[in-house]
Amino acid sequence: MANDIRSLCVYCGSSDGYVAAHADAARDLGRHLVENNIRLVYGGAAVGLMGIVADAVLARGGSVTGVITEHFDAAGITHSGLTKCVITPDMHSRKAEMMQHSDAFVALPGGIGTLEEVAEALTWAHIGHHRKPVGFLNVDGFYNPLINMLDQMVASGFYRQEQRDALVVAKTPKELISKLQSAVWPDVTKWVR
Ligand code: AMP
Repeated sequence: MANDIRSLCVYCGSSDGYVAAHADAARDLGRHLVENNIRLVYGGAAVGLMGIVADAVLARGGSVTGVITEHFDAAGITHSGLTKCVITPDMHSRKAEMMQHSDAFVALPGGIGTLEEVAEALTWAHIGHHRKPVGFLNVDGFYNPLINMLDQMVASGFYRQEQRDALVVAKTPKELISKLQSAVWPDVTKWVR
């Protein structure tokens, strides 16, 4: 096992989504986190898939760190059961806090906010700012279009094959955690020659 993952940052929809399998996957991931003694780090809200994954962890006695902005906190969507709540002045410091508290990052199905967060985690690995694993829980192929886009970047000489290969893609939470534990970023510069 290359990585001892004690805390996992989960990026996911602040909406429930229309597909029951996506909510089921959020619940299932929460259960696996507790079974593997991994703390959940996430955006701190009680809404959408975010609330579902947090509820699943808390219901089983697991530990949850929520990192939320003053703006969202004032809107009254902060989860009331968080083990630890960090309130930040803005989105930039929120993402930095989430990164700092986490040993790895994953995206579940979600919208543009989820995409932005996981893209930042990937970009920062890409430029060597961190070496923590990044993965996608690819429920029912939800992330296939994005993975195809990354392959297109590789084929066009804008993204390294080695980095694409080090990115974790898994269909189930069990597979996801196992792959994150063994994932290693390559020692390559970001520029494709
Ligand atoms: P989205 O996928 O657009 O629903 O955005 C969800 C992601 O962005 C989460 O991982 C959060 O960290 C952040 N985010 C966006 N909107 C919200 C919200 N209303 N409440 C809390 N976090 C949010």
